[in-house]
Amino acid sequence: MAGPIRIAVIGLGKIAHDQHLPAIAANPAFQLAATASTHGEGVGGLPRFATLDEMLASGVAVDAVALCTPPQVRYQLAAQAIAAGKHVFLEKPPGATLGEVAILDAQRQAAGVTLFASWHSRYAAGVGPARDWLAEREIRSASIVWREDVRVWHPGQAWIWEPGGLGVFDPGINALSIATYILPHPFFVERSVLSIPANRAAPIAADLSFRDVAGAAIRMDLDWRQTGPQSWDISVDTDRGTLRLEKGGTVLTLPGEAPRIAEDREYPELYARFAALIDAGTSDVDIAPMRLVADAFLCGDRRIVEAFSEP
Ligand code: NAP
Repeated sequence: MAGPIRIAVIGLGKIAHDQHLPAIAANPAFQLAATASTHGEGVGGLPRFATLDEMLASGVAVDAVALCTPPQVRYQLAAQAIAAGKHVFLEKPPGATLGEVAILDAQRQAAGVTLFASWHSRYAAGVGPARDWLAEREIRSASIVWREDVRVWHPGQAWIWEPGGLGVFDPGINALSIATYILPHPFFVERSVLSIPANRAAPIAADLSFRDVAGAAIRMDLDWRQTGPQSWDISVDTDRGTLRLEKGGTVLTLPGEAPRIAEDREYPELYARFAALIDAGTSDVDIAPMRLVADAFLCGDRRIVEAFSEP
């Protein structure tokens, strides 16, 4: 593509402001061309719209869109953008259902545009080296502990508790995006216990057991009721010692070594990947993390727990 990729950000909420806008501004392969968000908020003097419809109808020149809305509206927006010939960057999770994502994948093939189902946690500094190290090890077991305080990290986000919002799997799917990337064998859900507040549609906690195809057990403990220290940790026991990935994949400790800590480059790396996919005329639509979440809901043993309220 001659010149920078003209990109519009759709859904100007927390992640768009915290990560997408700075990553786009720092990458010369992109030029922010417009924004669309429900309340018509904008960026500087750029064209701003309340909806993607209005943006497409305006004729503003855009080559690509980054969809940073809640997942429940992602399919409609992505299908519209693909039909209009735009490359599409999907925030995680790539949709509200697996069926939507499969249809988008077919639509992008027919339209000849790039579709990128992004998993930002896979770009955390420790994740690539962890994958390389584990590729040559025998896995004995693994443990995922993702415990955070929902009141701190998702204040007032009503959509996250609604059907399709995933509840505690909104952060939990990040852990699964790492695990499906670093573990050498595919794994599947064996047991799922979902704790759902009496007044909400989505779980506040989940206790999961997986097994990989070579027989190793993988446990996952997700909880949004954690106050005090927060945990976003994965440990993997192998024939050559225990690998630890902490702080969401940013700190890697290999057996006998000091922890490796590196600068956060998740979103700059995501945009570099999106540019490379567009340049190569290809797509990246991996649904493995979402399939595990869907299976956890499919076979989940639902327990109703104390109602959740925010001040
Ligand atoms: P958020 O703060 O609630 O922001 C979502 C934004 O989307 C809001 O500004 C909302 O506008 C807008 N929106 C909703 N429907 C729209 C539509 N049809 N057209 C245009 N704009 C629309 O949520 P968030 O935390 O940024 O999360 C968004 C997505 O990013 C989620 O899938 C989440 O899993 C993912 N993510 C979030 C984080 C994080 O740290 N928060 C990290 C990584 C990934 P109004 O407010 O005006 O309704």
